[in-house]
Order: sequence, then C-alpha cells, then structure tokens
Amino acid sequence: YFIQPEQFTDETATIAGDDAHHLTRVMRAKPGDTCIVSDGISREALVRLQTVDPRQVVADVIEWLPMDNEPAVDVWVAQSLPKGDKMELVIQKGTEIGASRFIPFVSERTVVQLDGKKEGKRLERWQKIAKEAAEQAHRNRVPQVDPVVSWKDLLRLAQEADAAWICYEKQSVQELRGQIRKAILSRKNEGRRQRLLLMIGPEGGFTEREAAEAEAAGCRAVSLGKRILRTETAAMVGLTCILYESGEMG
Ligand code: SAM
Repeated sequence: YFIQPEQFTDETATIAGDDAHHLTRVMRAKPGDTCIVSDGISREALVRLQTVDPRQVVADVIEWLPMDNEPAVDVWVAQSLPKGDKMELVIQKGTEIGASRFIPFVSERTVVQLDGKKEGKRLERWQKIAKEAAEQAHRNRVPQVDPVVSWKDLLRLAQEADAAWICYEKQSVQELRGQIRKAILSRKNEGRRQRLLLMIGPEGGFTEREAAEAEAAGCRAVSLGKRILRTETAAMVGLTCILYESGEMG
C-alpha cells in the first residue's frame, strides 16, 4: 500500500481511507497479518498490523526494505488520447512494465472529444489505476499521470527530456534500438536518472506535419518494426524496448 510520508513514524505506519477499507473489507486482514507499505519516495517497510479498523489501520514496522524495484531510467509515455478505455489499459500495463510518467495528449487525428467537466474525474481514475498497478507490480513509486495536454505543450515537454522519440510507422526499421543505446551511453556518467520520452500517435496515426514538427522540436522518429501496431500495443512495445535496451528488464 502507498501512504503519505507523514503516515510513517520510525516504528509505525498508518493506512487510512480507501486502502484501510480495502485491507479490512476486501482482504479481510486481521491484527498480526503482514503487508508492505511505501511512501513512494524514500521509505518502504514490511509491517505487522496492530489495530485494524475500516477507517484506519495502524501497523508496526518489522523491517525497512530497500527501494530498488524502480528502473534506473525514467520513461515518459506520451499517448495520444485513444478511444474508449484504452488509456486505462496503457496506464495499467505501462505501470506494470515500468513507465514513470504518462502524458495523454491531443493530436490532429485524435477522435476523442474532451469534456471539461469530466476531465478532473477521469484524471483521478487514471491516477487510481496507476496506484493500484504500482502496488500489484511491487513498484516503489506510483507513476505520475498528467492532465491531457495539447500537441504544442507536448512538444515543449519533450524539450525537458534527455531524449524524445516519436513512434512513426513510416520511419525505416531498426532505428529505435540504436537510438536508445546512443542516448543512454552519451549521458551514462551524468549521475542522474535520464528522462526518455516516447510519443505514440492515435488510431489514425500522426500526420506528416506532426512528424516534421516533432523532429524540428528535437524528437527522433523511430519505427517499432514492419508491422502496424494498435496504438495501445505500440505504447507497451516501445516502453518495453526502451527498458530492455537500458538493461532494466533483467
Ligand atoms: N496510421 C496508421 C494506419 O492507419 O495505418 C496506423 C497508426 S497506429 C494504429 C497508431 C500509432 O502507433 C502510430 O501513430 C505510432 O505512433 C504507433 N505505431 C504503430 N505501429 C508502429 C510501427 N510499426 N512503428 C512505429 N510506430 C508505430
């Protein structure tokens, strides 16, 4: 379970809200049971439940655990808003695989209409999906999910990354592998986590103009192979390739 840093003391952890409810009502936890609790920043512990109430569970820290389940590189998955509930799938599976940030965006061929009144609720739901997937995958951090951004804002964000790639099926094959290696090797000794951004287009793909604008903003166009992948598959394949080439899948 993920808790706020202030819910840890040196000896105890307090689990509240939906998680306390989940632990008591869904998992039917009892005093003496154990679980893992993390603040998603610097502390993670194996704890033994002491007082169990659906509103609040207090647990004793048995052992502090090393926080080493996170990839050494931060991969930002920028996903053009797909139809239906596919964004949820991208967030859930991408969190399991190891993405550190999801940036939904609108591009020329995005067909989903934004509804200002419902966007807040949708973002909350996406964040909840990321949290649950991070818990189930035993991650130490919950990936960040950004509110939907425009294409122009995405290009600005791409400039904050150490390397940015636009997945473009019209690009020749074999590019991504070399690109990832080059990006990682060139900054290996900088002593900080690298931020690698991957852009995936909508069902209808990126337009030529978008591909050109992305390249002008410093992104490299890459292929994910000769087969055309569905947008949600492309996100997972691209993310997996980056983590694999970074030595983060072993
Ligand atoms: N425009 C294409 C078409 O209708 O034939 C397909 C777009 S594809 C379904 C959706 C997105 O997934 C693309 O914009 C791209 O970002 C990514 N994608 C899918 N297959 C890819 C590939 N082989 N190489 C690079 N990107 C790919």
